[in-house]
Amino acid sequence: MIKAFLLLGVLLGYYVDDPIYHTYSEVQEELDSLHRAYPEITLLDTIGFSQRYGTPIIAFKISDNAGVPEAEPRVMFDGVHHAEEVLGLETIMSTIKDILERYSEGDTLIKKFVDELEIWFLPVLNPDGHNIVMGLAPDSTVRDTGWRKNARDNNLNGILDLDADGVDPNRNYDFNWSMGGDSIPSHYFYRGPYPFSEGETQAMKYLCERERFCALVNYHSPSYSIGEIVYYPWRWTTHIPALPPDFYVIDEVAGDMAAHIVNDSHSGHYLKTIGEAEVGNARNWQYGKLGIIALTIEICSRRCQVPPEEVPDITARNREGIYWLLSRALRSSLLLTVKDTFTDRPLSVQALVLEIDTIDTIPPPRETDPRTGSLARLLLPGTYTLELRKEGYITRRIQFDITEDDLTRIDAYLVPESPPEPLVPYPVPSSGEVRVVLDLDEVSHVKADVYDIAGRRVRKLLDGDLGPGYAIVRWDGKDDMGEDAGSGVFFIRFRIRDRKKVAKTVRVKR
Ligand SMILES: [Zn+2]
Repeated sequence: MIKAFLLLGVLLGYYVDDPIYHTYSEVQEELDSLHRAYPEITLLDTIGFSQRYGTPIIAFKISDNAGVPEAEPRVMFDGVHHAEEVLGLETIMSTIKDILERYSEGDTLIKKFVDELEIWFLPVLNPDGHNIVMGLAPDSTVRDTGWRKNARDNNLNGILDLDADGVDPNRNYDFNWSMGGDSIPSHYFYRGPYPFSEGETQAMKYLCERERFCALVNYHSPSYSIGEIVYYPWRWTTHIPALPPDFYVIDEVAGDMAAHIVNDSHSGHYLKTIGEAEVGNARNWQYGKLGIIALTIEICSRRCQVPPEEVPDITARNREGIYWLLSRALRSSLLLTVKDTFTDRPLSVQALVLEIDTIDTIPPPRETDPRTGSLARLLLPGTYTLELRKEGYITRRIQFDITEDDLTRIDAYLVPESPPEPLVPYPVPSSGEVRVVLDLDEVSHVKADVYDIAGRRVRKLLDGDLGPGYAIVRWDGKDDMGEDAGSGVFFIRFRIRDRKKVAKTVRVKR
């Protein structure tokens, strides 16, 4: 039956039936084989499941050490919120292949992107809708190459009814949700029964909250509206202020990105346009709740699907925009990491740039990633003041400069309000590193040695000057030969100037 419809499609001349256009299963297979070909620098990540059919929604990461989150700026590109707007998907798939090929050829710009950034792609947010466009819905033969929504069973009849079903995923986000879209289920812009009611938008929420991108692009194409536009947040006419706090940097990023994408007629480039805030779309939520510089790009001048021979040129021109944004994330930006000064653990803290943010602005203060302690943020060149806040820690301010051509890296440590007691090893017992805090009121000569219970010296730790202030002495559990000292009771003997002190610790096997 599906074959018959595909044949009919070809006879009717559906552009998307040309092999250059991906089906969702082709997307899955291609990403899987690319991951197997480049296992070190790619990661396939199922971030959620579609609302109706439980289809896995797949994100693809490209970065050195792709398997672990690192303290690097993260940028994301997603496609197919709207099922029929397939040019974002094609731009993303061709860009993934271009990056991986050029990386293996040793291209220095691409290598820099892969080494210094975490690049995320989400080719199809709405796979059920996309399957309807392609005539591949799992339990139905219905096809609509102009389908926009997902496949939610609005009337609960168990049948895929294109007259009644589906939610517009790009009206389902929890930011001014009730102001946008439509409340009538059969409508083209149906916003869903409540914010984040859909598996598709929940997947996006999960990915964005976890990865805290500094910038991202939601790709669309014009179904009714005009194309070749870069929308950015926002004009909020019923709110004061109407412009967002990051307006100047967002406006610059949107304009520069647009200027790097040549238009279809090759007579100029894409244009930036400020977007409306009164709609619960992805861009407004991504910026309004998480502070991500989120853009929406309407690919193509006329429509969502174009003759197959036009696809490579459109995707290549949009790829220049992607590479421009990746370069932008590595200059005129801040890359912050925050750790606990004693434990060295990454911390999730509120990081305010006081020249731009207050505690009650929208978006709320950005937070560092608990896994890495990191946060990246695009800024305009200038001098800024960072304020780092976390309950139980002493608030810290750091002044920093942002320059046109560089990424400004700040490795900050926060001091807990009640620091560990000096000269008491922690943790006890320990299976890894043992640390001892010293609180020195002046520069002091410190000697530290580890002894076992029989009084034999196991390890010489330190013989030098420290302070003033807090200092941390660390023992990794090894002896002077670099061998594991084993488990049991150990003593760390300190000599601080003329004062002697012994600290007892216990090591256990993992
Ligand atoms: Zn769209």
